[in-house]
Formats: sequence, structure tokens, C-alpha cells
Amino acid sequence: MNPPSSLAGATRAEIAAALAPLAPQREIRMRTAQLWHWIYHRGVADFAAMRNIARPLLATLAQAHTLARPEIVAEQVSADGTRKWLLRLPPRGPHDKGAEIECVYIPETDRGTLCVSSQVGCTLNCTFCHTGTQGWARNLSAAEIVGQVMVARDRLGDFPGGVAPTDGLTPSGEGVRAVSNIVFMGQGEPLYNFEAVRDAVAVLTDGEGLSLSKRRITVSTSGVVPEMNRLGAECGTMLAVSLHATNDSLREKLVPLNRKYPIAALMQACRDYPGASNARRITFEYVMLKGVNDSPAEARALVRLLKGLPAKINLIPFNPWPGSPYECSDWETIERFSEIVFDAGYASPVRTPRGRDILAACGQLKSETQRLRARTRLLLEESLVNGLD
Ligand code: SAH
Ligand code: SF4
Repeated sequence: MNPPSSLAGATRAEIAAALAPLAPQREIRMRTAQLWHWIYHRGVADFAAMRNIARPLLATLAQAHTLARPEIVAEQVSADGTRKWLLRLPPRGPHDKGAEIECVYIPETDRGTLCVSSQVGCTLNCTFCHTGTQGWARNLSAAEIVGQVMVARDRLGDFPGGVAPTDGLTPSGEGVRAVSNIVFMGQGEPLYNFEAVRDAVAVLTDGEGLSLSKRRITVSTSGVVPEMNRLGAECGTMLAVSLHATNDSLREKLVPLNRKYPIAALMQACRDYPGASNARRITFEYVMLKGVNDSPAEARALVRLLKGLPAKINLIPFNPWPGSPYECSDWETIERFSEIVFDAGYASPVRTPRGRDILAACGQLKSETQRLRARTRLLLEESLVNGLD
């Protein structure tokens, strides 16, 4: 027999399906709305807490379902409040030990950004990315994506009656949620798991539940051109594109998917992205690799390539991992590159880092902690969320 499945993270359709054998058809809509409210608005983790639902129904629900979240296997907290969680997903069957994923929380004064994973591993083999070298495991379900947010909100005291942790910071602004922003920049290529990402976004942005704004959710893609339009049209989220190079021969080496979808096609998909405007800019991520893509000429080529597009540029210092074939560009080189981009009218793309004492970079999650120059390491975390609001 399969283990009980969790409804924490479920879509409305999944909740309705769980209720279908247990309640009269005419009640399903109302019961779904009640469960939805308790799960997502109140954040309860126990069916017994749902006071307006009849006990016998709750008891039968609890026989086949739980409200379990992914388990926190380990937590690291930085002095400035950045948190990294290693999460174990509930087993999917008797032979599944439960996949592990990482999730990073980055608080600032006026926002709190959670970096979530969309897959366990990744099928694309970007040569600078540790996830890409670790092979492929599986897609996450929508519920497993939402589950990462549920864990974070539990832990940060972000549900009604919750208690914020004392060993780290959460945003202090009036009415600001601990988790106000989501970036799909953890493990995996979100656009290769489109349906689950779309369904997860629908749960996250539902006004009667978690109520996150679509403008505060950013999906990062390595350039899956045929799915980009759907993302804008069906999810309405912000888009980030992992560009990393300005010509096809270099980009093919860094992001092999470029052979299938070259830069010209990628740029066209960006120009066509539904909802992009000066107020809703597309973020272009550019990882700084020493001697590979970091020359002033390449900075100028980047500016030329993005001309006319409503763009933000996010320079990401490369974060090395054991055996990685690249090094991070020198600080001076990053500064020179960033100045050229800045002079072209893009807001300061690399921000001054704050003190950070744990390695919590999305994009290469689950890799071992590296002894990286502190300044560069901190920059990575900062720059990943730079300008995403
Ligand atoms: N698969 C998606 C989203 C996850 S990766 C994508 O590629 O966009 C999130 C970001 O982290 C991407 O821009 C990716 O290129 C970057 N990244 C991956 N490995 C990195 C590393 N070692 N150092 C710095 N950035 C890295
Ligand atoms: Fe996959 Fe993104 Fe890593 Fe490329 S950078 S291997 S697409 S997770």
C-alpha cells in the first residue's frame, strides 16, 4: 500500500479529488474551499485543527492523507538571516527513501526571497553548474514545489499565530511577509517541468491562500524557447534567462541547450514574452567565468545584444565546486564589466555584499561548501536576488 499522501501543497483539483470518495458531490466545492483556507491561509498541519469541518470527515481524510511538509534534515543559518535547508521529500512508494533537495531563504529589510527547486537534478548539462554534473533524478510535483514554501513559512513563523525564529532575521517592514518573493533558481530546469511549475504558481498566487503576487515570482530558464511564451501567458510570472554568453559558439560550450535553441531564437522569445515591459523587465543572468566570458568586449556585446529589450542584468560571480573546470572572475574584472553595463543604463548590476557566513547559493545547490573568497561568495548570494522584486 502507498504511504498516505500529503495535501500540504495540493492544488484545488487534488483536494477535490481527495474529498470525492468521502463527501457528497454537492458538498465538494464548499469542503475544498474550507480545506484550502485551513491549509494555505492558516497553515495548519493537523486535520483536527479544522474546527468548521465535521469530525467524521476529518477522520476519514486523515486515514488516506496527511498535512506533512518536506522534512528539514539540516538547517544552516547565517548571521544576517540567510538560511539554507536540506529537505527530504516524503517517500513516493515502499522503495523510495525520499529525495533530498535544498532550499535557500534570503531576507532583506523589505522582502524575503525563497529560492526553490523544480526538479531533483537536471537533464541539461551546463558545464559550470554542479547540478548539471550530478545527473537526473526526477521532476518535482506541484505539491513538492509548494511544500518548500510551506516549510519556509512554518519555520519563519509566517502563518497566523506563527513565531519567528530568534536566531536570524526576517524582513521588518510593515505588513511584509517573511516569504514575499520566490525565485525558481534552485535545482532543475523549471520549463522542463512546466505543468508542475504552472500548477505550483497557481497555488502560490491564489488570493484565498498563500496570496503571493505573480510579480514577486521569478522563473529562471536556461532558454527552453518553446515553453517561454506559455510561461508568460499561463503563469504571468517574471522571467529570468540564464544567458552567460553573447555568441553561439561560447554559449554552446556553457549551456549545451543553446545548440537546440540558439541566441537569436532566445532573444526573439524574450521580445515576445507576454507582459514584459519597462515596469516588468526580464532579468538576464550572466555568470562571471575568469578568462571565458568576462572581457570588456563581451560586456559591450551584452549591451548590444539586449538593446531595445526591457532588461535587467544580473552578474553572478561563479561559485566553484569540486572539480569545476572554471574559476570566478577577479573582483576588478567583475567591476570593470559591471561599469560598462552600468554606463549603458542598467542599474548597478552587482550590489555591495552584506556580511554572510554560510554558502547558500542557489543555482548550484547540494554541492559541498567551498572555501571561496568571502567577498565573492557573498556577492553571489546577493546578486542572485539583485533587482528581483
Ligand atoms: N535551470 C535554471 C534555473 C536554475 S539555475 C537555469 O539554468 O536558469 C539558477 C541560476 O544559477 C542560473 O542562472 C544558473 O546559470 C546559475 N548557476 C548555476 N551554477 C552556478 C555556479 N556554479 N555559479 C554561479 N551561478 C550558477
Ligand atoms: Fe540545469 Fe540550470 Fe544547472 Fe543548466 S544551470 S544544468 S539548466 S540547473
